[in-house]
Amino acid sequence: MTVQQQQVTIPTVLVYEGDPGFFPQVNTPVPHPVPQLDTQPFPTAIAGNAPQPDGAGPGTEAFRYWVAADALSRTGQTWGPLVPTGTQWHPQVGRALTAHLDAGDGLNARYDRRGVWFFRRTVAGVAVATCESSEIVEHETGHAVLDALRPQLFNAASAEVSALHEAFGDISALLSSLRLESLRIAVLAETQGDLELSSRVSRMAEQLGWAIRQSHPERVEPDCLRNMANSFFYRDPVLLPPIGPANTLSSEPHYFSRVFSGAFLKIVAGIFRQQDLQDQAGLALSAEIAGQLLVDAVVAAPVVSAYYAQVAGHMIAADQSRNGGRYGQSLRSAFIRHGILSLEAATSLTEPEVTRRNAAIAEMAPGGGDDQGLTAVTVQGATYGVTQPLTLSAPAQERRFGIAGSDPAGGSLRPADPERVATSFLEDLFRRGRVDVPEEHRSATAFVDDNPSRLKTHEISRSATGEGLALVRRCFD
Ligand SMILES: [Zn+2]
Repeated sequence: MTVQQQQVTIPTVLVYEGDPGFFPQVNTPVPHPVPQLDTQPFPTAIAGNAPQPDGAGPGTEAFRYWVAADALSRTGQTWGPLVPTGTQWHPQVGRALTAHLDAGDGLNARYDRRGVWFFRRTVAGVAVATCESSEIVEHETGHAVLDALRPQLFNAASAEVSALHEAFGDISALLSSLRLESLRIAVLAETQGDLELSSRVSRMAEQLGWAIRQSHPERVEPDCLRNMANSFFYRDPVLLPPIGPANTLSSEPHYFSRVFSGAFLKIVAGIFRQQDLQDQAGLALSAEIAGQLLVDAVVAAPVVSAYYAQVAGHMIAADQSRNGGRYGQSLRSAFIRHGILSLEAATSLTEPEVTRRNAAIAEMAPGGGDDQGLTAVTVQGATYGVTQPLTLSAPAQERRFGIAGSDPAGGSLRPADPERVATSFLEDLFRRGRVDVPEEHRSATAFVDDNPSRLKTHEISRSATGEGLALVRRCFD
């Protein structure tokens, strides 16, 4: 057998790159090498038996399996080289993160500490299986990666912290897509090199967006679920409505995440502009640089109210220590344009200040206890229809960088205190019908959400540490 023949016989599977798309912009499956799942530091698995890699096409279970496997594997390859040595899945996940590709009826997917779960539903004759979208698989796996890096974020009672988790999921999809040379070439052509523009990689979950649009057009973008090419400007989520149409900002974490993910896309674009060559290799490098700064920042940033500003400040600090501040202007500009940093905050992050703070950051490590650094806030249960006092894990008070987001009227916003952040988060959850309150904990006046199809991301359960009840997160969706 000649060398050339051997290359031809490398086993491949057909997959969608990014997303299935929707009529008439349905994407064409392409061959990829058979993916490896059990690789460090983020081993993954898929429940059930692996089908033969026999080139099965869209609509078959074998095809769905390989799309999901390809995306799981790529997400691990995307984040693996960027995370600190010794990073592993949250202990409750186990050694490998398990994906469940047919978790039931629904237009959704979720991460909990037992695995990642993908739902499916037929809409207007189209079978929508969320595991068939690489972007959705990469988003959910991104939640698991961030949970490995910063378990404290999982249960923090804060809209902004939850939204950072959602932004990380979309960023996980963006960076995983940009690992594919074919998509880098496609995006450079589509945007003519201006990565800030709407593109196949900035548009998240086109097919799922289409499916939701058939019944709830106001909830999604006109051409996708969410778009990282956006101009949403930071507001303190405590002051925002709990939910709203997709063209407005609300405190609902997926919608609020767009402020941060929008800034992140501009950061990738800015770093790319500074590369010597504006080609697909330069784009691959830019994505990696931006991802590294984000990983450094989430590991180091204290979990506080005005969390976006802290992560932003720590990305600027990480750039100072890794790259000598080479990308500082791109970072500041993106965060200012989205109001994550006020002008005042951005200019206060001077080189000496950042260097001084970096000395403390160097000691930070990933992981830690689930409640490490959080503050317990206990509120009256009666207001929320529960029988006993309720404890929330609020973000802490102390900020490493004394910086905050932008006030739309000018200057900096004063961050809300931890108690306000936590109670506002709890109220929003109740108003969105996202809390499961077991019968035994309900008071006579309890407000019970009667729609069983609404996903309960949280539950009220007996406090593990002491008396009374606690708000506990079940999952991210
Ligand atoms: Zn999510």
